[in-house]
Amino acid sequence: MVSAPAKRDIRKLSPEELKAFFVEKGDKAFRAQQVYEWLWKKSAKSFDEMTNLSVTTRQMLNEHFVINHVHVDNMQRSSDGTIKNAVKLHDGLIVESVLIPTEKRITACVSSQVGCSLDCKFCATARLKRMRNLNADEIYDQVVAIKEQSELFFGRPLTNIVFMGMGEPLLNYANVIEAIDKITSPKGLNMAAKRITVSTVGIAKMIRKMADDEVKFNLAVSLHDAINETRSAIMPINDTNPLEDLADALRYWYKKRKRKVTYEYVVWKGINDTPEHAQALLKFCQVIPSKVNLIEYNPIDEGQFQQAGDDVLQMYQHLLESHGITTRIRKSRGKDIDAACGQLANKSL
Ligand code: SAH
Repeated sequence: MVSAPAKRDIRKLSPEELKAFFVEKGDKAFRAQQVYEWLWKKSAKSFDEMTNLSVTTRQMLNEHFVINHVHVDNMQRSSDGTIKNAVKLHDGLIVESVLIPTEKRITACVSSQVGCSLDCKFCATARLKRMRNLNADEIYDQVVAIKEQSELFFGRPLTNIVFMGMGEPLLNYANVIEAIDKITSPKGLNMAAKRITVSTVGIAKMIRKMADDEVKFNLAVSLHDAINETRSAIMPINDTNPLEDLADALRYWYKKRKRKVTYEYVVWKGINDTPEHAQALLKFCQVIPSKVNLIEYNPIDEGQFQQAGDDVLQMYQHLLESHGITTRIRKSRGKDIDAACGQLANKSL
């Protein structure tokens, strides 16, 4: 017996491909526009929802395509208002995304990969290993789910998006860029690119590519130390991608994009809690205009890593600020439900 050909994921088609499909079937090209709007702007989860199409057209779409939408499998709410979603993908794998409410903003923190290949020693996601990249529609759908939760639970619109969930966005570059194109497009969610931040371990080659592509969103780099030996010990990516290469790539980024970069930095006891490390960070911050977020460490197990005391954070802040570098000490959100940075590891499974 010959099995029916597998149906294609319709959201992998470009507007032109969708148009070509309708023309080939003898239908009008503008159908493609209608369907495209249902798929992205209206986030339709089935062809039957597309009520301005004839039943025959809907049937034809059903015969050829599927809509691989994600669904929120489990939602946890923190005492501080943070919401963590376990998001189930069409093949049963799970990623996590987080809604972070503050007085002025509602931020969606989204994942770009299932698991991660980078093995940062302090991060829970690293323990999952990388299983696969997310498609653009799977990234987009996480944002849509959080946008809906934001309206439903807070009566406010989603204002910001950070790629700080599971995975390394610059190792899934094409899909991340496509998702951001859809998020910012009037044919999608129509959000401003300046409200989107992509956070990376700092892959020099890809930072250069982002500069060449003239991306409009913000760049954050997870630095955590500015001395090669220490950084390599906690972030193995630094072995093949040392600070000098990162600095060169950032100079290139700034020359082309004229945009400040944000460094994320955790201060740990016995690892980077001395003035020598703070001085190294200051020097690195002078490579291009930058600001620093000193983020709170969220323990992922007992032992090796412990947050340094407030006095050390203040030593860092004082040094950086006295040289004109904006430095914020950031408290974690959603810790009670393991939704904070570096804690995303599918505990709900
Ligand atoms: N791969 C990307 C994005 C995911 S991690 C990146 O590295 O930037 C998002 C942020 O959480 C990064 O700054 C990361 O270094 C930080 N992080 C990871 N584990 C953490 C932990 N246990 N406590 C606090 N921050 C952590």
